[in-house]
Amino acid sequence: MKQKKFILPESEIPTAWFNIQAIMPNKPLPILHPGTRQPLKAEDLYPIFCEECSNQELDTTHEWIPIPEEVRQQYAAYRCTPLVRAYDLEEALGTPAHIYFKNESVSPAGSHKLNSALAQAYYAKKQGITNITTETGAGQWGGALSYAAKKFGIDCAVYMVKASYNQKPYRRSIMQCFDAAITPSPSMSTRAGKDILTINPNDQGSLGTAISEAIELAVSTPNCKYTLGSVLNHVCLHQTVIGLEAEKQMELAGEYPDIVIACFGGGSNFSGIAYPFMRHNIQDGRKTRFIAAEPSSCPKLTRGKFEYDFGDEAGLTPLLPMYTIGHTFKPATIHAGGLRYHGAGVIMSQLMKDGFMEAIDLDQTETFKAGVLFARTEGIIPAPESCHAIAATIREALKCKETGEKHGFVDMSAYDSYFSGEMTNYVLTDEELAKYQASADALNQ
Ligand SMILES: *Cc1c(COP(=O)(O)O)cnc(C)c1O
Repeated sequence: MKQKKFILPESEIPTAWFNIQAIMPNKPLPILHPGTRQPLKAEDLYPIFCEECSNQELDTTHEWIPIPEEVRQQYAAYRCTPLVRAYDLEEALGTPAHIYFKNESVSPAGSHKLNSALAQAYYAKKQGITNITTETGAGQWGGALSYAAKKFGIDCAVYMVKASYNQKPYRRSIMQCFDAAITPSPSMSTRAGKDILTINPNDQGSLGTAISEAIELAVSTPNCKYTLGSVLNHVCLHQTVIGLEAEKQMELAGEYPDIVIACFGGGSNFSGIAYPFMRHNIQDGRKTRFIAAEPSSCPKLTRGKFEYDFGDEAGLTPLLPMYTIGHTFKPATIHAGGLRYHGAGVIMSQLMKDGFMEAIDLDQTETFKAGVLFARTEGIIPAPESCHAIAATIREALKCKETGEKHGFVDMSAYDSYFSGEMTNYVLTDEELAKYQASADALNQ
């Protein structure tokens, strides 16, 4: 029998995260204070984030950052996650390619997001913080943080994008299960929310708005810190456990990937699977390709511009140097809620600019078609976000069929189950793009 799953014991849970900032040929540009335009120091982030996360955010020197034992202990509830060879998908495609996927859906929160949630909740607790707050789109990050907060004994308040709050009530229930307080965003509980509802009482919310609300709560409440589930450097850092495990698992399989593919929202699952392999491109001259798969309704890497922009809609965050569509971007309501963010993380943006990675954009009908084929062959119904990575993988696998090349790839996907029948594609038009982009351009003059 051919080996399908490559499993590592708990003792192989990584003991350190990999900090790619330490080895990047061009370090990311500094994060700027929006008023003074001066580079921010870690201390400047302390009012918003807990100290350890702020320090990790700007750490460009330590290549390896030890994972606290308390966090590793919580990782043991679901790590190491399996690496699986998708034989039946390969067969259905008739491809010579070897397709592997890292299954992060086995976490208690159902996605990779818990890898960072546990770290952030732990560091907050250690610092004496009693409340953490955040935003959530499709609910995955909120669910992960609620669970992590419960595990480390702190309270959790979540602003949930109103569209998701109404469309996905069971997501709310998951967070309530873990004892979190959920507010639909925009809400009247913050100035940022009030401002938006005054202009449009029916505003269905966006991740950007929810971020603004959560940050406002954090800075105005004692002993309360904000946490983010993607985009930021420390979040991407925590996700590298995925790729570090995958590297060892590929060794067990006797292979090394030619292509690494991940879906791209803010970039955390991409970073997690990609950076540990990318370090060999940077340090050892390997030639692995890294492909970010984003929705054509939110194409920041493929059609956005590299420039300074706010991380949130209201303009409360520092200025981030990133590929962005513009912080005023109003995403179409595609099913892959987790991919609707206007910008790409600072590190990924620099890596993209420097040619270490590529990006493609996909229509949601193609991604769901890929998801259905994956479900029928591999027996896992993938999250709409993960379907983007699967669709991109299928495209590459079909190319191998033409060229006869035998690629091995890793496709990082986090799974859980929801599907919908009717579907339209939302491709961002050039006019819309120009309109949103102007909001970022104005900050770069
Ligand atoms: C949140 C989420 C994403 C998108 O966020 P990234 O930071 O880009 O990884 C993708 N897939 C799933 C399943 C998610 O929960």
